[in-house]
Amino acid sequence: MRSKLPDVGTTIFSVMSRRAAELGAINLGQGFPDFPIDARLGELVADAMREGHNQYAPMPGVPLLQEAIATRLEARYGLGLDPQQSITITLGATEAIFSTIQALVGPGDEAIVFDPAYDSYDPAIRLAGARCVHIPLEPPAFRYDWDRVRAAINERTRLIVINSPHNPSCSVLREGDLDALAAVIDGREIYVISDEVYEHIVYPGSRHQSVLGHDGLRQRAVAVYSFGKALHATGIRVGYAVAPPALTTELRKVHQFNTFTIATPFQHAIARFLGERPEVFTGLASFFLARRELLSGLLAPSSFRVLPAEGTYFQLVDYSGCAALAGLDDISAANCLLEEAGVATIPLSPFYRQPPRHSLLRLCFAKREETLREGASRLLDFDARRSRA
Ligand code: GLN
Repeated sequence: MRSKLPDVGTTIFSVMSRRAAELGAINLGQGFPDFPIDARLGELVADAMREGHNQYAPMPGVPLLQEAIATRLEARYGLGLDPQQSITITLGATEAIFSTIQALVGPGDEAIVFDPAYDSYDPAIRLAGARCVHIPLEPPAFRYDWDRVRAAINERTRLIVINSPHNPSCSVLREGDLDALAAVIDGREIYVISDEVYEHIVYPGSRHQSVLGHDGLRQRAVAVYSFGKALHATGIRVGYAVAPPALTTELRKVHQFNTFTIATPFQHAIARFLGERPEVFTGLASFFLARRELLSGLLAPSSFRVLPAEGTYFQLVDYSGCAALAGLDDISAANCLLEEAGVATIPLSPFYRQPPRHSLLRLCFAKREETLREGASRLLDFDARRSRA
């Protein structure tokens, strides 16, 4: 039958998680924690349901939650935002991104993404009828090349999608990148989606660069966040978009017909949870740093080379030194590890329009210590076994 996305299959995350479950593999692929959430959050969800918060929430979000978010943004960026006009609760960050794209671009427009790009951006842009222009981040450190962006911009360009901390490369915007972006779009009607879902997971040596903290970008940007990531509960599917009122109005025109409203009890529970635990996000970076260090320490004796990770709860590894995998493309390498080592990983080529020749896999370390030890031990065994063979 006719397909609007003939080249799109099931996302690599779902494919890898399903195969990992079938094969009983250790799942270091799809990004989700395997440790429990704070029990208090669960209690608050139950309380909210018992108290009767079970009907449609207001379309833009539960005011209590919008206000709790505004309070945090005030503390972090000194923004006196009107939550009613600037903050929209969405079905995870994915919906925020999808609805914003549908609201801002259409036939005849171009939107720029940076490869490796999170896999939802390109299809969302094409479903909106716009052309998606892919610009590679510069290896080996996955940096933005603003001259290249300037050269790609024309009168049809309407949108640029940035992502920092970056999934899947684990890089973080440098000081100066946002200034460069602001300069590149200056004087043009170009909007920015800034996917900042890993905002709290930035490691020593880097700082989170938010469009909300940038005077030149804030007025034309939609910043996107995820409570699933920040609260270790990817299944709650509550995210939000922060944007100036005019952009928020447009975004909500789509949001109201896309997901309409987001699960009411979760919104109440999160609002109260943030009230009770105002410091909940401050320890996230050190919490994940310990896991990052554990995983890279465990892999150190192997032939997998661990690349520097500046942010996110992912880690790239280069397998070109691993005798059994060298020469394989990344999808074959990931399949080989899944089937022969019993470890699921995420190859990078699905995040590119034109995958370069490289040997990188993404591992998720938002996992219990036992999971990381078992995953690493399987990788080391495979490595030792196959380099002898
Ligand atoms: N964000 C998650 C990751 O990068 C995946 C979410 C999904 O499966 N769509 O692994």
